[in-house]
Amino acid sequence: MQLLKGKTALITGGTAGIGKAIALLFARQGADVAIFGTNGERAVQAVLEMETHRLTSEQKFLSFLVDVAKTAEAEQAIQQVISAFGKVDILVNNAGITRDNLLMRMTEEDWDDVMRVNLKSVYNMCRPLSRIMMKAKSGSIINISSVIGLTGNAGQTNYAASKAGMIGFTKSLAKELSSRGVRANCIAPGYIETQMTEVLPPQVKEGILTKIPLARIGQPGDIAQAALFLGSDMSNYITGQVLPVDGGMVM
Ligand code: NDP
Repeated sequence: MQLLKGKTALITGGTAGIGKAIALLFARQGADVAIFGTNGERAVQAVLEMETHRLTSEQKFLSFLVDVAKTAEAEQAIQQVISAFGKVDILVNNAGITRDNLLMRMTEEDWDDVMRVNLKSVYNMCRPLSRIMMKAKSGSIINISSVIGLTGNAGQTNYAASKAGMIGFTKSLAKELSSRGVRANCIAPGYIETQMTEVLPPQVKEGILTKIPLARIGQPGDIAQAALFLGSDMSNYITGQVLPVDGGMVM
């Protein structure tokens, strides 16, 4: 299948984990792909991996070193993407971090860092790109939220607030852009095996597993499949929605 043939996708945090899995699947489906991240070595590696997944010789894969929490830096990099590709059809806001602690012990820095990287980045990316997508009268914005944004979690007030914030942002943006054919949706992943979750203690991981009806930990590819659906024309009549991809954790 070539579900994304002729489309250009921009994926923040495409250098690792879920974002990289999305980049590789999009490459396999025929898309041109730009990824944003801050780690140069991982960025080079991700582009090399995309090359091995290419469907046609015309496809282009580029990485950009960008801190998406910084407004001017993000805007400048978006301009570079437009210069290189001419357009962006699919934006995946996936870059994210955790700085977990109980609220009583949470520093202002840990609060601000999570809000900047997880939520302000979405503003930084969507503001310039929604203008471009509206002019093109098409586009799909996919924001990677979390089931924690739906349920909350002790020790994650900052993270849950940022992920719930993404949901409100996405629904509002979907209402602003829908008349011009631009869609915006969230994916809410459950527990996915990446460097973000590998730091959890074994007993915490086992505890989470008991709460997953499908009885397995999710893989980055599980989220990539959902992103492919929301990025492709298969979901043309879907906007403003939150799709949990969590093995049934939240139902
Ligand atoms: P990883 O830690 O594996 O990857 C995070 C990605 O974000 C990396 O590519 C990293 O790139 C990038 N990133 C972090 N900070 C910045 C920044 N300031 N500017 C640009 N890029 C940045 O995490 P996951 O793949 O697990 O998570 C991806 C998304 O999915 C996150 O938003 C996360 O909250 C969400 N999620 C994950 C779940 C899980 O169980 N894993 C569950 C629910 C949601 P680099 O290192 O190059 O900067």
